[in-house]
Amino acid sequence: MSETTIEKHTFQAEIQQLLDLVVHSLYTDKEIFLRELISNASDSMEKLRHIEATEKNIHEPTVPLEVHITTDAEAKTLTIADSGIGMTREELVKNLGTIAHSGTKAFLKSVKDSGSSPGNMIGQFGVGFYSAFMVADEVKVHARSWREEGEALVWTSDGKTSYEIEDSPGQTRGVKIVMHLKEELSEYSEEIRIKHLIERYSNFVGFPIFLNGTRVNEVEALWLKNKSEISEDEYKAFYQFTCKAFDEPAYRLHFSADAPIAINSLVFAPSENPERMGFGKVECGVSLYSKKVLIDPEPKGLLPDWMRFMKGVVDSADLPLNISRETMQDSALVRKLGAVISKRVIKMFEKEAEADPEKYRGFYKKFDRFFKEGIATDYPNRDALAKLLRFESSLTEPGAVCGFSDYVSRVKDGQDSIYYLVGGSREQVESSPYIEAFKARGLEVVYFTDAVDEYVVESLGEFEGKKLVSIRHGGVELEENAAEGESLSDEQTTALCEFLKSELGDRVTSVASGRRLVDSPIIALVPTDGMSPQMRQMMKAMDENFKDEIKVELEINPRHPLVKKLSEAKDNNPELAKLVALQLLDNSLIAAGLLEDARDTVKRMNTLMEKAMG
Ligand code: ADP
Repeated sequence: MSETTIEKHTFQAEIQQLLDLVVHSLYTDKEIFLRELISNASDSMEKLRHIEATEKNIHEPTVPLEVHITTDAEAKTLTIADSGIGMTREELVKNLGTIAHSGTKAFLKSVKDSGSSPGNMIGQFGVGFYSAFMVADEVKVHARSWREEGEALVWTSDGKTSYEIEDSPGQTRGVKIVMHLKEELSEYSEEIRIKHLIERYSNFVGFPIFLNGTRVNEVEALWLKNKSEISEDEYKAFYQFTCKAFDEPAYRLHFSADAPIAINSLVFAPSENPERMGFGKVECGVSLYSKKVLIDPEPKGLLPDWMRFMKGVVDSADLPLNISRETMQDSALVRKLGAVISKRVIKMFEKEAEADPEKYRGFYKKFDRFFKEGIATDYPNRDALAKLLRFESSLTEPGAVCGFSDYVSRVKDGQDSIYYLVGGSREQVESSPYIEAFKARGLEVVYFTDAVDEYVVESLGEFEGKKLVSIRHGGVELEENAAEGESLSDEQTTALCEFLKSELGDRVTSVASGRRLVDSPIIALVPTDGMSPQMRQMMKAMDENFKDEIKVELEINPRHPLVKKLSEAKDNNPELAKLVALQLLDNSLIAAGLLEDARDTVKRMNTLMEKAMG
């Protein structure tokens, strides 16, 4: 017997946890393990292809890049072998014994955070290599690195607490995984079962896959095929395998162009937004190819950052193969490519939204932040993106939404502004006094209720030539309304405004009469350069020392009985008039969500009530 050394290692604690979850979960789709392992094999051979471009000394350089799968129903084993980069001793320990992979970390974290069953989550994230232990009670990973100095080794584990590494004489370059299947899962050692699984999940793998010596997959770049030759199922399978996605694609764009640049592109919008599940910012999901050869799986600078949720493939035959990741960002060709694709993607969303508004609404609920981020950061696409925004307005039913194009299609003749109001919710916005005059005149007001909306509309500024105007601000000109009742005279109004300004002093920048109000006596307007209550709250949350004197413009309603009475009282009963003036200011601040300290308000209110009751 030859001498072999056996090294025993214990799994890192997190890996043990993970294995425990994987093995004991009730996850029904155990079959995805095959996709995970074939995907690892394919990644590894893809890496070898890249290494070949720069390295001369590669172990066994002539071995073809192929995946060989063998089933043995008698021994109840399934074997998956590739001729990729393999692993050295250190890599076996690091890659298979410790947690390095970000997806796995995210998976563990989400299981901990949610406290829910990990089963469904495996489906969402995939746990890569470790999924082998869902079906096997023993896994052997034979490995030989591409590096000349590498050794032929085998890593063995039952997936519980430890693994062993020893020599594996005869192992050629790459990795060969031998799984001994669990008793009740011996179906995975049947050729027909495995054949169907490969067809289902791995048809587009860029390397030939052989099952028991026979080629099973068609290696084809779906994005180069004619749309009419591709079925919905093929698209879906491509999305799930090539884009490593676990959900259904919500939308897709498959297009080709020859001029000004050659493009073959197949990109998808997912139906689930991982950033909403608390996984932080995702990486760009659109890979860049040139004539079917992968150039960069996460090309920085190809697409605008807000499009990072999109997944798929962009292939341009015009791209030089040797373009490096560093020079890519500066390449005019890459920029042009990105510009063409982002325009097409936005157009695609616009069309899809028109074709099926309900579906788009559901999608928008999950992905709106990306579009909003685009408006704030992607200047060339800003106007096009504005068409994708959805919101409620004074003319939509509660819960229903519309877009700026709908708004513009129903504006009144001569209206050159789009009116909007930012608030916490529809109810809050609707009960604010700002709305009154617009309602009375039948002018539509857009309700923005997402915390980032204010910033987004401010960056947008206008839509199709119509200025976006916040009705919280002063300076909105409205037409005379026929329904308006008897008003104070101009002199009386001027005198009352002067009285209020002198009583309220520095707390107001100006007092004027306006046409805004119908049912309320007075309204506080934020100066055009002033902050909204939402913005103030954000500033306060960020900086506890934040202090900002609120100064508002007051607009009075010269037709309101209270205002008319105040006009008389300032001459007949100045003491009461002063109290009422202060109270009116506070009331307007409360309505605007701007009153910070209500102690004086309450005291004064009590005094006023006492007086009212004689
Ligand atoms: P990942 O999502 O990174 O593939 P896995 O858990 O599936 O996570 O694998 C962990 C690591 O093990 C991989 O990142 C890779 O470095 C290594 N690995 C797995 N399978 C192979 C293989 N067939 N050939 C070479 N290395 C592999």
